[in-house]
Amino acid sequence: MRLIDAHAHMDNKAFNRDLDRCIKRAKEQRVVGVINGSSDGPTAEKALRIARKYPNMWSTAGVHPHKAKDHLEDPLKWIRTLAKDPKVVAIGEMGLDYHYDHSPRDVQREVFERLIHLAVELQMPAVIHSREADADTFVMLEKFPAGHKVLLHCFSGDELLLEEAMDYGYYISLGGVVTFQNAEKTREVARRVPLDRLLLETDAPFLTPHPYRGQRNEPANIPLIAEEIAVLRGEDVETIAAETTAATEDFYGIKIDG
Ligand SMILES: [Zn+2]
Ligand SMILES: [Zn+2]
Repeated sequence: MRLIDAHAHMDNKAFNRDLDRCIKRAKEQRVVGVINGSSDGPTAEKALRIARKYPNMWSTAGVHPHKAKDHLEDPLKWIRTLAKDPKVVAIGEMGLDYHYDHSPRDVQREVFERLIHLAVELQMPAVIHSREADADTFVMLEKFPAGHKVLLHCFSGDELLLEEAMDYGYYISLGGVVTFQNAEKTREVARRVPLDRLLLETDAPFLTPHPYRGQRNEPANIPLIAEEIAVLRGEDVETIAAETTAATEDFYGIKIDG
């Protein structure tokens, strides 16, 4: 069995002291690949530095909606530069977050639109963050040409939004939330999503799955998510692992060795 953590933040200072041990623990749990997300220039640079150190680790370069207000005048040249590195496999995070509103909504939309155009120009997959903003997010996503690879990371929509996402050919990723007994909306999405469109993620150090809720999350927890999805669907965990690993390789255009 081989699993991939399709979205984690190993650049986060929560991992400064024991990154090597985290990667080792992940391997012991058969999590053989990790893709680092990023939220601005410094995190994207650090995520790439870490990705270069480890085989089967990659990174993305983007501006999280929380940080949009700092990037309004930014020509985003740093993304073009980072994207030339073969270890940078997607543009993101990008999107809208109306839960925290750390940046004004019109600024979030402006920066999101520029990142969409950049991903299209660079012909790179896009990792989307959307929280309490799905209607506006889906309007923005229409700016992608048909067939552009789009991942709705940490998907929080219901089964109807899932259907819409599948009609557009998007991918979704699910994480620790599926293990929460009260997250019935997301658990229903996990039952219904076609496996060739599903990626698994921790979003580490955040969103720790049951029974470790409240502790730091790390890629070694991916099997807990895979096992829960297997139970919800009545399928075996090997199937979930094989299909989601293939979907992740397909989405990011990577190939895991070993
Ligand atoms: Zn996110
Ligand atoms: Zn994230």
